[in-house]
Formats: sequence, structure tokens, C-alpha cells
Amino acid sequence: MQVFQQYINGVFEDGSKTFESFDPSTSQSWARMPAATAADVNRAVEAAHNAFLDPTWANMSATQRGKLLVRLAELITANTPWLAELETRDTGKIIRETSSQIGYVAEYYRYFGGLADKLHGAHLPIDKPDMDVTLRREPIGVVAAIVPWNSQLFLSAVKLGPAIAAGCTVVLKASEEGPAPLLAFAKLVHEAGFPAGVVNVITGFGDDCGKTLTSHPLVSRIAFTGGPETAQHIVRNSANNLAATSLELGGKSPVVVFDDVNVDSVANSIVAGIFAASGQSCVAGSRLIVQRAIKDELLRKLAEKATQIQIGNPHDMQTEMGPLATTRQLAHIQQVVEESISQGATLVCGGKRHPTLVDGNYYLPTILDCPHKDIASIRKELFGPVLSVIAFDTEAEAIALANDSAYGLASGVFTANLTRGHRMTRAIRAGIVWVNTYRAVSPIVPFGGYGMSGLGREGGSESILDYTRTKSVWIRTSDDPIPDPFVMR
Ligand code: NAD
Repeated sequence: MQVFQQYINGVFEDGSKTFESFDPSTSQSWARMPAATAADVNRAVEAAHNAFLDPTWANMSATQRGKLLVRLAELITANTPWLAELETRDTGKIIRETSSQIGYVAEYYRYFGGLADKLHGAHLPIDKPDMDVTLRREPIGVVAAIVPWNSQLFLSAVKLGPAIAAGCTVVLKASEEGPAPLLAFAKLVHEAGFPAGVVNVITGFGDDCGKTLTSHPLVSRIAFTGGPETAQHIVRNSANNLAATSLELGGKSPVVVFDDVNVDSVANSIVAGIFAASGQSCVAGSRLIVQRAIKDELLRKLAEKATQIQIGNPHDMQTEMGPLATTRQLAHIQQVVEESISQGATLVCGGKRHPTLVDGNYYLPTILDCPHKDIASIRKELFGPVLSVIAFDTEAEAIALANDSAYGLASGVFTANLTRGHRMTRAIRAGIVWVNTYRAVSPIVPFGGYGMSGLGREGGSESILDYTRTKSVWIRTSDDPIPDPFVMR
């Protein structure tokens, strides 16, 4: 059994409380993780606060902070196989995906490292004589960064990168489900040479560790990725510290397909959009809205491709789909699929656990043909390999269906008609619209949602501003004595 440690104030330590982590492909316990207590969280936040004020960090040049991030990127690149193996072991995400995603995580740190010394304040054209006004841009303070179990290294890079580039310090909380890759990542933070307390890495449970962290009076900024219900808890907790908060939440992302497309090519994109990471992806294209004329043909192709997906050991490079990360996820998916069928949805393929891989949390790629939009799988986020399909006749109908969701994270439009593609990008209410592609991401492009998909954007050059605040500095430039305010002129 491997034992992982938490990282507080530059020191690796065993947890006073611990919990077991399970391998989702075997359901066997494989590692012991430190469960940060409220006292641990308090120490981590205090360490981050002290580091924030310490001249070693406070006076470090932005260029030097950027170099530390670039060093971290190099270490991630050198250690990608190790980190990918740990993420695959602890979350069941296939090694092909963890390897390529973590390789790309390094690019995020390089990008934010490069941004560090491009950040600056302003000199304002003040409307008063003998006055000079500058706007200083300062780091906001201690950041509480909280991530869910899927893509933890990736989701922490879009928080840690801009926070460090701006000069903040961070307490990073890994999910209690699959925390191994982030706890291991702390070793790279240490090796990169960040001063003690600048980055602290812990894991633990929401109602203890998470709650203490997000309501801590020394926390100035909360960067959260996870589910909408947890986000609502966090917003309530942050009434305590009034921390600036960004929320990257779930999705029920629509993929609209018009009847003028190359059906085979689009089917490949839809399959990748929903079944990658076994559907456990916030941007999963889980609602397929297809023009009626090509619905049957597209469904046939999708079912053919879905049933050919190689399911199995996530550590095998040939495997194309692995298990779900947790038994809780598996139970949730089973329940919503059954509910949807009882409401009138037709099962096109899947709809059950894998017949032979019975030890792990394996669920077959599933497609549900839905007669109307009030079927449970059309409305609820499943976070699993389930595609819900609904037909439309007109463009207006497609737009209405696409926007009929409490969420608004990502969306896709497939059409050969460019003017229609443009119209759709305006009409769809979501933080991302991909046209004739799906799932592309980059450190250069902001990411985030509308409605219940969250608040704020991560990635892109402007995201660094969210880790700063301005200070207005007024300087009187006249040497004349200040007049007596009580003498009328
Ligand atoms: P979750 O909300 O249950 O947990 C996320 C994190 O919040 C965990 O670290 C958890 O310990 C912590 N947490 C739980 N209760 C807390 C509390 N009261 N205070 C503070 N922290 C608390 O989410 P999950 O089930 O781990 O992940 C799945 C969800 O994440 C899905 O809804 C998915 O769509 C979403 N997600 C969103 C994005 C995005 O960028 N928009 C990316 C990935 C996942």
C-alpha cells in the first residue's frame, strides 16, 4: 500500500487522519491518503499568508516568479509518465488520456510563466491640477484552489498558474477521490524551488477541510471547480471572508448537427466528445441535437462506433475507455439511465455495466434516443458515457433545444453552411462554441460557463487579473502649502 503525504509550509508530512484510495479498475484499496483536518487547513492557510507577506516572495521580481513557473513546467514534462501513471491508478482515466493531458499541462505553466512580467498597472490622466495618480496592480492574497477528481493537474494549472504569476500564494486542495497525482505534484513544486508556504497541497473531505478552507478569514480568493451544489455551499461559506470567487461547474453541453454534414466524420467527433474520459468531463457533449433527415443514419454510425470502443485496463495503451472513477458515479448513471428509459427513451446501445469486467466500475458506452426534452438524461448532468439524442426540424428549434438547459458551459455546431454556423455562435448561450470541431482547449483561450455552469473564466491572458486588485495612488505634485480649509476664498 503506497502512502501519500500532504505538503504544508515547504514540508511533507503524514496526515494525522488518513483514508484509503481505491483503484477503480479493480475496486481494490491501493493507497493511504492524508485527510487534512481543520487544524491542518488553518496551518496551511497561515503558511500561505506568512509567505505572502514575507519579503522573499513579496519582493521577488515578476520575472523570477515566471521563471519558477517555467521550471515547474519543465519538471512536469520530465515527470509526465510518473504523474500519468498515478492519475490512471487513482481515477481509472486511461493512460493514453492522462499522458497526453499532463504533457499539455506543462504548456499552461509555461504560458502563465510568460505572462508574469507582462502584468502592469496604469498612469491615469487625472482631471485635477497638481495631482499624479497611478493604479498599482497587486496580488490579491491567499488563494484557496479546489478541484474535483477528474483532470486534477489540468484544473489546478489554470488556478495555480495565474495565481503564482500574479504574486499570490496558494492552498491547493485535491479531491478526496483520486488525489494521488496532485499530492505527487507537490514534490515537483518543492523541487522547482518555490519558497516555503507559497504553494501548499492538501486533500480532505468537503464538510471539514473544504469548508474550513473556503470560510477562512485569511483567504482572499477562491478558485473552485466541481459540482453546482458544492459551489452553492462555497458561496455561503465565503460570506465569512468575502473572498473573490470563481466557479467552474458542470455542463449538459449540446452538440447541434445539421443535415448538410459528412455524417461519418461528425460521428467521430461526437464519439470523442462524449466517450473520452468515460464521459467524466465537464465539457462532454452529452446532448446530441440532430436534424431529423440524418438522425437514423447518424445514430446507426454512432452505435457502430460506440460498440467498437476498446474497454478495459486503463493502464493499457490500447484501451480506449476505462472505468468510472467511483462507485457513487456508477450508481448515479445507472439510476438516471433507468429513469430515462421509464420516461420513454429508447436504448440504442449500452445501458448496463460491462458484462465481463465485473470487478471495476465499468459501464458500457450508452446512447439514448429521447422522444422529448423532459427525459431525465436530457436535463441532468450524468458525468458518464451516456449520449442523449433528440431530433429537430428547423434552425430555430435547434437553438431553442440547445439553450433549454440550466447549464451553459460548452456547445458544438456541425454544419457545412458557414453563415448558419455564424448565426449559431451568436444564438447559443454557452461559454464555448466549437464549430465543426469539439473539445479543443488551449492556455490562450478562456474557459467557463453561463448559468449553473459557473462564474468567471479560467485560462487566457485576462485570467491573471482575477488574482489581482488595484490600488489607486494619489500624489500631490505641488510644493505650495495646503490652504487652510476653513478660510473661504
Ligand atoms: P464536487 O463538487 O463533489 O467536489 C469538488 C471539490 O469540492 C472536491 O475537492 C471536494 O472535496 C470539494 N468540496 C466538497 N464539499 C465542499 C465544501 N462544502 N466546501 C469546499 N469544498 C468542498 O465535484 P466532483 O463530484 O468531485 O466533480 C464533478 C463535478 O465537477 C461535475 O459537476 C463536473 O461537471 C464538474 N467539473 C467542472 C469543470 C469545469 O471546468 N467547468 C471541470 C471538471 C469538473
